Parts: sequence; structure tokens; C-alpha cells
Amino acid sequence: MASVDPWRLSNNIHVVLFPFMSKGHTIPILHLARLLLHRRITVTIITTPANLPFISAFLSDTSASVLPLPFPDNLPDIPSGIESTDKLPSMSLFVRFANATKLMQPHFEQALNSLPNITFLVSDGFLGWTVDSASKLGIPRLVYYGMNNYAITISADVAQNRLLSKLNSDDEPFTVTSFPWIQLTRNDFEPPLSDPDPNGPKFGFIMEQAKSTTESYGLLVNSFYDLEPQFVDYGNSHWQPKLLCIGPLCLAQELKRKSEPKPKWIDWLDRKQEQGSSVLYVAFGSQAEISEAQLHEIEVGLEKSMVNFLWVMKKKEEELGNGFEERVRERGLIVREWVDQREILGHESVKGFLSHCGWNSVVESICAKVPILTWPMMAEQHLNARMVVEEIKVGVRVETCDGSVRGFVKWEGLEKMVKELMEGEKGKMVRKKVVEVGHAAKRAMEEGGSSWKELNELINELHAMRLVPH
Ligand code: UDP
Repeated sequence: MASVDPWRLSNNIHVVLFPFMSKGHTIPILHLARLLLHRRITVTIITTPANLPFISAFLSDTSASVLPLPFPDNLPDIPSGIESTDKLPSMSLFVRFANATKLMQPHFEQALNSLPNITFLVSDGFLGWTVDSASKLGIPRLVYYGMNNYAITISADVAQNRLLSKLNSDDEPFTVTSFPWIQLTRNDFEPPLSDPDPNGPKFGFIMEQAKSTTESYGLLVNSFYDLEPQFVDYGNSHWQPKLLCIGPLCLAQELKRKSEPKPKWIDWLDRKQEQGSSVLYVAFGSQAEISEAQLHEIEVGLEKSMVNFLWVMKKKEEELGNGFEERVRERGLIVREWVDQREILGHESVKGFLSHCGWNSVVESICAKVPILTWPMMAEQHLNARMVVEEIKVGVRVETCDGSVRGFVKWEGLEKMVKELMEGEKGKMVRKKVVEVGHAAKRAMEEGGSSWKELNELINELHAMRLVPH
């Protein structure tokens, strides 16, 4: 580690950030932009025209530059004008969408060439091709995945030991080789990784990204060391590149207080607080696709639970037209707009979060000290849910009707666990634990904390490296 003072040198440091075009991948990178700007570092964010307004608005109070590059047009499968995964008609188009970004490479390299003195690049794990561009130009590339160390390390261990191919069924429990206290099932993994003999375009895509990750300088993780030390240590003693815990990134931005005019849901939460009522926040992220039958069970479960709830739905999840909203009017609010999730989680009245366990949502809930009712749906969310409930113990899990982790959730299994989280003994325990973990998260990001130091050391190291002529 070079002993260079980052504060003194930072005026000469320029970092280029290239987030992937989905909200869950972009938002943490925008928080990272703030962390760099706090250190008086120049930041340029690369994006596409349709993603520019969101990014510009998110960072409107900062000096970050945003550089839009054209998104490939006339693609056979991706409707014109769609430049982010949350706008895709179906997530089955994900790999084609991600592969289409490769066509941005010439523009991206032109941009890198035209920007002054780039110290390093941070680009998303789904933009693996950027490692070639960076290496052509001699720029170190750091990769950002959006996954925690638990999910990264366990996925790698399970793949390396071929544990999923030895099972008789998707729900047969097995023990993770390097972490024998952890029992999982094949259903905790997503196809194609859960396939006995994985292949096909999605598997090819994952392997490409894994290769470009190993060729990168480091892997930035939106987590903090004390949350999952054994997984960070294991990963760092077994694989390249280094796992660098620099989060929770959301803490880079102060929570907005009393934004005016207040959105109607904040007004509603204020009223609930005045009445002395607690509220369950319900949201399943920007990408999960929920069947109509499952949406119906959620409605019945929430209605029967008798709790107050604020449910943020995706626009696509239209009203089922059965009078539900009218019936729960006194104690349930349904919102179909983009909300500031952190503002909701930070509201005094919010005492629980029914979540799909996208990693950003988990981290934001921990930082707000709100316990989680986990209902994983896709991607690595099943592993996140295991981590939340079994490892860090800041949540409980919804009950599926057959006990399988991917089983259908009937209203009874939801109602029971909503009550448990909001009023039960287990709820009390996880509520107490999330307060402890929330404090630890804050300490990690404060001056002198583990994440604060990790980022400073990284900047120092790369800056010193770039000063040495090649
Ligand atoms: N989010 C938000 N408002 C919304 C929907 C989502 O602020 O109306 C944010 C949320 O706070 C989180 C991100 O979008 O930062 C979603 O990421 P996550 O990993 O939780 O789930 P994903 O959408 O990627 O499945």
C-alpha cells in the first residue's frame, strides 16, 4: 500500500463509471459517484440517452459529468427506444439486451480516448467487454456486480465442487463444502446455474462475465466487512480479483428530510405515525414478474393480516379489479409510481419490509433498521433471503404452501408471517438485531470505518500506480 494522501492528490484523479442499464445496478454506482465526489475526485458517468434523465436528476446537486453514448438501434429482439431492463417487455430478453451493449464498444473507446487522465474505470459485471477496452488503453478496470460476498462466495464454491449435479431433486438439501453450517437446495439457484449440465446463451454470457471479472483489478462489493467477514476472507484467500467492501453505498447520500411538496405516500405515512400505527412496506423491486394468481394471494394475505401497509407496485401490475383497494382503503395504500424507497424505509412509521430481497433493498432496509419479511423471486435473491434469515438474522421468511423455496405462497402463509414480523416473538428478535446491524453499517461508512478505509486505500493505490510511467 503506497502511503500517498488521497486528499492531497485527489484533484488529479478522474474516475469513469459505467453502470449497467437497470435501476438496481445503476443506483449504487451513483452513490459511489457521491463517495468519490466527497473526496474531491473528478467523476464522469457513461450512460445512454434514455438513461440520462434519471442519472442527471439523481446527481443534480453534484458536479458529476454524465456522458451519453448511443444505444444500439435496429436490434432484432429489443424494441427500439428501450435502453434499460426494467422497460423490457420480458426479462427473457435479458441476455440479448446485455449482449447488445457490446455494440457500444467503439463509441465507448472513443469516449475513453477523449477524456483526460483517467485514473480508473468502474464498470458493471454485465458489461464485461469493457475490460478489453480498458486494457487496450492501459486503464485499470474495477468491476461492480451488485451481489454480496455471501452470494458470490457460495455460488463459486457450489460451482467449483459441482454440488448441484449430485442431487436427486430441486428441493433436496445439501451442505455447502466450505461452509458446512449452510444447507441449500438447487432451488436456491437460478437457471442455468441450477441446471445439472448448464449450457445455452445465458450460461455462455455468465462465463464471459466471470472471465472478464478475473481480468479486472478488483471487485467492488456493496457491503461491509463486519456483515460477512468469513465470506470476504474466504473469497480473498481463494480467488482473484480482490473483493473490496465499500458499502453500504446508499449511506453516501443523506436521507432527504421533508421534501416539498410531499408525495402522497409520505403524507399518508405521516398520518399513520400521528395515529401511532406501524406500517409494513411492500415492494418487489423493479424487475420481478409476479403472476396474477400470486398477486391475488398477496392481496388476500395483506387484507386478512389487518396490518397497515404501503405497497409499491410496478406499473405493469395493474389493478386486479376486485375491489381490493376500496376494501383496504383505511389501512392500505397502493402506489404505482417511482418512489424514493429510502425515504419510505426511513419513515418513523415503517416497521417492516416485505421484500423480494434484491440486494439494494436488503441493504437499504438494514441501514434504515427495518426488519425484512423475505420473499425472493429471481436472480440471486434466494441466496440473499437465506443470508438475511439464517446468517445475519435480520428477517423472517414467507411460508410457501409446499415448503419449497420456490413454492407458491398462499394467503395463509403470507398472513401468518406478516403478523409474525410485525407482532410476533421472532419479529421482536429480528427487529432488535437489525438495529445492531444498522449501527455497524453506519460505522463502516464513517471516517475511519472499514468501508471508508477500503475505498481510500484503493484510490491511493491506483493513483500511485498511475503516477508511475509505464
Ligand atoms: N427503487 C426506488 N423506487 C422504486 C423502485 C425501486 O427507489 O419505486 C430502488 C430501490 O431503493 C433500490 C433499487 O431501486 O435501490 C432496486 O434494487 P434492488 O436490488 O432492491 O432490486 P431490483 O429492482 O434490482 O430487483
